Amino acid sequence: MSSSDWIETQLRGTLTGHAPGKLGRLARTAAVAAIARHERAVPFWPIARIEALQLRRIRTLLRHAQSSVPFYRDSLQHWGLDPDRIVSAADLARLPMIDGAALAEDPMRFVAERFRRTGREVFKTSGSSAGLRKPIFWDHGSLLLRAARGERDRVVIAALAGERWADVIAREFLTNERRHTLARWLGIRTLGHQRLLILPADFSSRTQRTIYSERTVIPRKPVHYHHLPPAVPFHVAAAHIAAIRPRVVFSFGSYADQFFHYLHGAGVKIPLPRLWVYLGDRLSASGRDLAESMGCAVYAVYGAMEAGTIGFQCERRDGFHLNSDLCVVRIADADGNEVPPGESGDVVISPLDNRAMVLLNYRLGDRAAISPEPCGCGRSLPLLVRLEGRRSEIIRLADGRDLSSLAIEASFSAELRRTIQAQIEQEAPGRLRWRLVASVPADSEALREAFIRRGRHVLGAATTLEVEFVEHIARTPAGKFMRSVVRPPVGPGPFSDAR
Ligand SMILES: [Zn+2]
Repeated sequence: MSSSDWIETQLRGTLTGHAPGKLGRLARTAAVAAIARHERAVPFWPIARIEALQLRRIRTLLRHAQSSVPFYRDSLQHWGLDPDRIVSAADLARLPMIDGAALAEDPMRFVAERFRRTGREVFKTSGSSAGLRKPIFWDHGSLLLRAARGERDRVVIAALAGERWADVIAREFLTNERRHTLARWLGIRTLGHQRLLILPADFSSRTQRTIYSERTVIPRKPVHYHHLPPAVPFHVAAAHIAAIRPRVVFSFGSYADQFFHYLHGAGVKIPLPRLWVYLGDRLSASGRDLAESMGCAVYAVYGAMEAGTIGFQCERRDGFHLNSDLCVVRIADADGNEVPPGESGDVVISPLDNRAMVLLNYRLGDRAAISPEPCGCGRSLPLLVRLEGRRSEIIRLADGRDLSSLAIEASFSAELRRTIQAQIEQEAPGRLRWRLVASVPADSEALREAFIRRGRHVLGAATTLEVEFVEHIARTPAGKFMRSVVRPPVGPGPFSDAR
């Protein structure tokens, strides 16, 4: 057992009981810091060493599942899986494939007995078109480990934002003016490093910080963090950015997308952050181009409530390095068989850190491919590429073609630049409706014609396309904007989680 494994085991072991005293919190903070330091190097390990770590974690998790998770207890032998004999992650394919519908049907089957009532937090995946909200259980030990694992993308974000890593870490512990003085004395720069989070108040990362603050000395609200709700109008967000001058902004992808289209369409000029980190949903190619043309780099991590961070972009921002030692990712066809590298398929995950809820061979609902080529950055973690719309966002045309809503958006990108908000709805297969908020309302007739013309070309003449101009498009109660709505709903999953 390596020293880092040992610290991890100790950390998990201390998190079973009541809230700790100050000394306990300091000790845990030191443990998280030690693991975080170790995490910085892992992405650069030789792949064989990463796979050996992955295999150890699979075995540990399978033993745990076998002894205390109802869905897997006494069943592993039946599926031909012996935790001690498993030789690679590919063996997980022998387990039955599960998905959001199976989880929503009876979530407690996947929860370990000792975490049913205590020692865990329950997160809810946010609203879906099918209306199924799934509880996701995370034990406190795994949540604290997530704080340490985050180091893998934290160093990239600091580099892209032009921040000194030591300053970033030190600031995470600063909570008030008095400590600002201390920071100045220590030579830590605290000004010009503001961060703005345009995310829901109950967003999981904020809930996690509360947990950290109760169990470590990591504060719930560092002094340089500012929050806005994601339903905030764009001109208000723009005013905040101009006033706070954040170096990094965090938001959903759709919010970033619309915000940059708003700036462009309305001709608003504000000093932009160095880096815009988006999560939850996607940023279109046109949104990304607009941001970068304005001098703001965009960056994403790929995560899911069910898994934590599945992958993260490196400085090249071309695909996601998979945290394959923390979450096994397989790319599978409709029958669950693995497809070769370079070929797109369904993303099927097996998160390895979580002890409260065990989900193995879980079809997430996204599509992507594993790059056959290594990344030039030096990290050996495999690269996930062509991550695209979930299956619930596949739109059926009159001629039977299926297009992802992302592909449709990309095809309409020139027209979409003249809008602030847009939503494509499939009212029925072959019958689509664009719901648009125009940048310049007076232009709407010309814009309608442009959309119809493009639609005939891209969607085929037989597809009916309506264009509707509205004042605003409603968000979901969680503040999430639905870029596409497909009716009738395609089955029970997958869902728009707070990713
Ligand atoms: Zn890379």
